[in-house]
Parts: sequence; structure tokens; C-alpha cells
Amino acid sequence: MTTGTKAFSELRLEGVSRRFGGHDALRDLDLTIEAGEFVALLGPSGCGKSTALNCLAGLLPLTGGSIWQDERRIDTLPPERRGFGMVFQNYALFPHMSVRANVAFGLRMRRLPKDEIRRRTEEAIRLVRLEEHAGKLPGQLSGGQQQRVAIARAVVLEPSLVLMDEPLSNLDAKLRLEMRTEIRRLHQSLGLTTVYVTHDQEEALSLADRLVVLRAGRVQQIGPPQELHTRPANWHVADFMGYRNLWSMRVQAAVDDTVAVERDGFRLVGDPVGPVAPGSEVIAAVRPEDVRVDQAGATTNAVPAEIEVVEYQGRELAAEAVTATGVRVHLRTDRRVAPGDRVTLSMDPQRLLVFPGDSAPAAGPAAGAALLEEPGLVG
Ligand code: ATP
Repeated sequence: MTTGTKAFSELRLEGVSRRFGGHDALRDLDLTIEAGEFVALLGPSGCGKSTALNCLAGLLPLTGGSIWQDERRIDTLPPERRGFGMVFQNYALFPHMSVRANVAFGLRMRRLPKDEIRRRTEEAIRLVRLEEHAGKLPGQLSGGQQQRVAIARAVVLEPSLVLMDEPLSNLDAKLRLEMRTEIRRLHQSLGLTTVYVTHDQEEALSLADRLVVLRAGRVQQIGPPQELHTRPANWHVADFMGYRNLWSMRVQAAVDDTVAVERDGFRLVGDPVGPVAPGSEVIAAVRPEDVRVDQAGATTNAVPAEIEVVEYQGRELAAEAVTATGVRVHLRTDRRVAPGDRVTLSMDPQRLLVFPGDSAPAAGPAAGAALLEEPGLVG
């Protein structure tokens, strides 16, 4: 198999939009994907991920914008003329054909010479490590093996771009982890360009070179995993990136890169992300793993609280505590805390991000007092 084939140097989506009736499933997506990149489209259910992927694949016509492979406009081409490979969550294998025949199918449709079909098929089967199963029918394989067949069937065609829509969502947790590594390995060894749709932030963070976070059909942030992890652009992205504690608060004072916020006697100092004027409503966000328990010498953002719920998660505990003013705090700790323990929680001000309450580019639910309970992302 040819590796590192670069049929283009960049793929550009310019203002790509798709409406269904009066509903914007995807609005004004601008994205440039470099050849060889692994880009993940990430967001909650209904945010427009599959719509974006289907627009790229040619399965859905755009209602606005255009798609370019270098200087060639491709959104007007039918799917088969775009030369993209596709892998979906429901493998879509032919049940009556062997693994080998499934992988060879696309090459046969292209009427390639028999020995080339044989050579490329065997190589793709070897790449996904299914040599021992090549004669079996899909029904005789495990879910993970079937997904490998689907991947082999896509990459055997040496596509210029591979599109994957939640390819691991039907697999159990252990297989998901294995296949994740497998997908990354194939992406690298074949020099593929991959666009990968998932709602699993951990999967996206571990696989992709760049993430595109969508919400209600609009891009919220595009950047490398590390950037989205440490510096989400707004509280919606923070919520999606594991900032489980989101508290609706009011700004007391703001000086340079520090902001003091308060709600009903619950006071914190944090790092502002965006404009936060005194008196304005904001969302303070912190990850459970950045909440410390009874740390010696902690004075800033030190809050007395009572542990309420504890869950064992391997070497760490995931716990919920409630402060004297009734604020619920999610935390992770390796201390052996138990329900009823009175503790002092503390948070590094640099890990406590403070977002403007209306910092979301997309129209969405107002960041109100309800956030003090359990903010859920809606698509
Ligand atoms: P999921 O993770 O649940 O698959 P998603 O992020 O992929 O969600 P899309 O399938 O792209 O979301 O859907 C985006 C929005 O467009 C949703 O509100 C959905 O209901 C709507 N939508 C998608 N396809 C159609 C269609 N064929 N007709 C009408 N509305 C649609």
C-alpha cells in the first residue's frame, strides 16, 4: 500500500452551513485541515458533528458555503468522486462475504487488475492485524474485529481523507481503548488525513492533533488538545472539557489577571477568561482534579466543606462535598475521605477560570442560578 500519499496539501471548509427547514444544524463552519492532520469534531448530541461529516463526505448537500481541496472545489462533486474513505459506528459490512471479500470489494468495483487487488487486500488485512481471520464471515468476528475490517475496507482504497463517525461507540470500554491506539497507529503509519467525529472528549483529546468543538451548529473553539484542556474559550467548552464544577457568581473586583467572585458568602479568586467587569455575572469553573483536600498551608480559595458522596475509582476517589453555603463541589483525591468528613477544600487561583456569563458565541441557555445545581450541555 502506498503510504503517505498526499492527494492535496489542504482541505478548506469555508462558511459551510446546512439547514433543515428553519433549523441550522451547522452554521458557518470555517476550517482548514492540513494533509496528514488528525482533526476531531467534538460536541454534545445534536451539535452538528455528523452533519459536518456528511457534508464533507458528500452525503448531504450544503445549504451555504463551499469545500475546497487546494484550488479544486469539491462540494459540488458526488461522494464517489471525492475519493474519501468512510468508517461508521455500524460497520456496514456485507454479512455474506468473507473478511477478504469485504476488504477487496471497493477495489473490485474499480476494476483493478486481479493481482493488484490481491496484493492490496492482503496488505490492508495485515495492517489491521486480521490475517488469521481473513476467511471468516463478519458474523464470526467480535465487534472490534468487525470495526478493523471496516477500517481496512476504507484504507485499502488509499483515500486522500478518512472520515470516521463515532467508530468506537459500539465497542466495550477495553476494546475502545485498544482500537483507539490502533486508529492512531494506522493514521501515522499510512500518513492519512483523518476527520473523526466523537462526543467523547477523552477519545478526542487522546487521538487528535486538533479539536473542533461544536455546539448548536456553531464552532465554539478550534485548537490543539492541550489548549482546549487548559484554556477553554467559554464555559460551554469548559463544561465539555471536564470542568465539572461550574458556579454562577458575581464579580466583586477585577485587577489585571485576577478576579474576585462571590455568591452568598462563597468567595473565590480566579483567572479571568475574557472581559469580566465588577458587578457582572460570571461562571467560575474548576476541574475536580484541581480541587485539593486539606492541603497544608492552603489559604487562597480555602473553603470548609463536608464530604457527602464518595465513589471509588481505582487509586483515586471521586467525591462530592457541600460547602457551608450549600455549594456542591466535585473533586478527585487520593486521600481516604468518607461521607460526613469535615474538610478544607482549596483551589489554585490559576486553575479556577472565570468566564463571562454570556461568553458563548452561540445562543443558548442563559448562564443563570440554575448552574449552581448541575449544568448540563444541551446541543
Ligand atoms: P449525535 O452525536 O447525536 O449523532 P450530532 O452532533 O452528530 O449528534 P447531527 O446529527 O449533525 O448532530 O444533527 C444536528 C442537528 O440537525 C440536530 O438538531 C438534528 O436533529 C438535526 N438534523 C440532522 N439531520 C436531520 C434531518 N435529516 N432532518 C432534519 N433535521 C436533522
